[in-house]
Amino acid sequence: MPLFRAVGKVPLSLLLKQFALIYLFAAAVLTAAIVASIRLDTQDRLERAGVREAARVEIARSLVAKDFSLVTSDVRLLAEMPSLRRYLDNGSGAHKEELANLLRHVASTTRRYDQVRYLDATGREVVRVNYAAGKASIVPRGQLQDKSGRYFFRDTIKLDRNEVFVSPLDLNIEHDRLEIPYKPMIRFGTPVFDSAGRKRGIILLNYFGEELLQHFRAVLLGGDQRSGMLLNSDGYWLSSAKREDEWGFMLGKPERAFGHEFAEEWRTISAGESGALQTKNGLFVYATVYPLQEGQRSSTGSALPHSASRRELAGFEYNWKIVSHVSDENISKFASGKERGSRILIAVAYLLLALGSLAIAYFNLGRRQVRLKIKEDEARLREITATMSDGLLVTDANGMITFANPEACVLLGYGQNELAAADMHGLLHVEEDGTPCPRVDCKLLQVVQTGKTYRGAEEYFKRKDGELLPISVSVSAIVREQQAAGIVVAFHDITERKKFQLELERRAQVDVLTGLNNRRHFYELAELEIERTRRYGKPLAVLMLDADHFKHINDSHGHHVGDAVLQKLGAVCRHTMREIDIVGRLGGEEFAILLPEVTTAQAQEAAERLRKAVTAAAVPTQGESVFFTVSIGVTGLAETDRDIVTLLKRADAAMYDAKQAGRNRVCVRE
Ligand code: GH3
Ligand code: MG
Ligand code: MG
Repeated sequence: MPLFRAVGKVPLSLLLKQFALIYLFAAAVLTAAIVASIRLDTQDRLERAGVREAARVEIARSLVAKDFSLVTSDVRLLAEMPSLRRYLDNGSGAHKEELANLLRHVASTTRRYDQVRYLDATGREVVRVNYAAGKASIVPRGQLQDKSGRYFFRDTIKLDRNEVFVSPLDLNIEHDRLEIPYKPMIRFGTPVFDSAGRKRGIILLNYFGEELLQHFRAVLLGGDQRSGMLLNSDGYWLSSAKREDEWGFMLGKPERAFGHEFAEEWRTISAGESGALQTKNGLFVYATVYPLQEGQRSSTGSALPHSASRRELAGFEYNWKIVSHVSDENISKFASGKERGSRILIAVAYLLLALGSLAIAYFNLGRRQVRLKIKEDEARLREITATMSDGLLVTDANGMITFANPEACVLLGYGQNELAAADMHGLLHVEEDGTPCPRVDCKLLQVVQTGKTYRGAEEYFKRKDGELLPISVSVSAIVREQQAAGIVVAFHDITERKKFQLELERRAQVDVLTGLNNRRHFYELAELEIERTRRYGKPLAVLMLDADHFKHINDSHGHHVGDAVLQKLGAVCRHTMREIDIVGRLGGEEFAILLPEVTTAQAQEAAERLRKAVTAAAVPTQGESVFFTVSIGVTGLAETDRDIVTLLKRADAAMYDAKQAGRNRVCVRE
């Protein structure tokens, strides 16, 4: 890279320092970004997990509700059966048999009841259908039991018409013992009445809790890491992934309760309706199920065969908690940034950041070196050019000024800032008459293209105050990598030289004593005038003057008075003649006047006027004023006249005539 070639090696210590600064900053930003992103992502995943769990919980809840309403409607239907009413009214064996058959039919067709029973008002089983292994059978009279001690009888027989008792979900007890294998059970009971409205016992359905639990497990125990559980309102597991935890309250093992293992979590879950909480133990999503519907009553139930419920339960107290537990370990799997892939990605990001920081540090230092070098160069350029007597402008390839030395500013009357980035040609370059110089003709800018140095003896810049600045310039191209990058314009004020030159020119044309045209210039002007006159076919006349007895004036008053007389004569000529008349001193006390577009006769008149004016002119001296006269010869341009010399010769002859005739007069020669 040319940048670095130009700069050379970047010092290592400086590079490391720069790198460290940049990397520390960038890494801090990246870390903050990663942490924020992980946090957001984890939160997002947890939220999504929460929503998913909540959906499962909701499904489970609705399944339970459906099961409950199904059983409730069954028990109500049975309590209103005409065959039951008939039996209650008549008490005949035939009616009893009819009732038993009907209950068996119900058990075998619904297949959801372990037992379908009618108990009389004393708590004795009167009709009992057992359902096992897909078969419903009527229990013979001898095997019927007295259930008067069981809480579900006591709690149901108390109820009014249409009220349904729902027992807690617990395990079946048969002949005063827990039935093995465990048989989860909910008893649905409702009182029955004879036609006279007397309460005659209860209809009792033992609903297979297992079916309900299976529904529940199917929904909550997916094939993944989640652990779904169903808790009763006391926090005992009715269903758990760890089966040994279940039914603690039936087995007299109070330590097998959710609240025992997850005390903190249970406080929230038991008090709350539904929600999600994250603790050190993981994510818990929970919801409460209230299976009891209107008209359904329940009690605390009892695990003991002959003890009553501790108390009746309000509807809201009969509740189960469905809890979905995602362990902390498994949450980690949800969280991003902890997977192997993410870690590698993050490591790569830091590595790239380090490389990037190094590159930036290297570039920065490189650029700084370049800047330092440029500054140094500029300072040196300024130093060198500050003392230059030439103005110096540097432009880019488009002619935009990139540098102006102090002398350039002085010469042009602009401040350095005003020149910076200004278009040199547009701002400064003009023709001799001050009009803008056409850009295409600009010899200065052409150097950008040609690459050849241009030296101009006379160019013009326009100063800020509008004055023309005549300059001599030397323009050379700046070439970088074989490409024109701009020009350097060195210029010099040539005002003095121009003035001197003009003075020289003026001196070459003017007679020093009188300020009139000198002989040579008079001849030049006369030639031009003759040519013009000839071209337009106009007349032209010439006067030849010679001071009379001038030698005498010199002799008697001194040479300086003689000079004054000559000056006076010149002045009188200028004032008397027209503006367009060309007056010249040919030498000594001889003058000539050219009168364009004037005939000889008119010239004669003018000569006379002049003669008189001269006569009247006084030259003051220390003593009396000096007066003097002139003799004037007049002639006109003839066809044959070759040039001014011919013409002057004839005028001179006419003037000589005047001298001969006694001076102070005008003579004409045609
Ligand atoms: P004339 O009437 O015949 O012309 O007589 P003149 O004296 O004018 O004639 P002449 O040509 O003999 O004299 C001219 C004199 O003018 C001679 C010279 O010394 C003097 N002269 C020439 N140039 C200058 C000058 O620049 N200044 C002065 N003061 N005198 C000059
Ligand atoms: Mg004379
Ligand atoms: Mg003379």
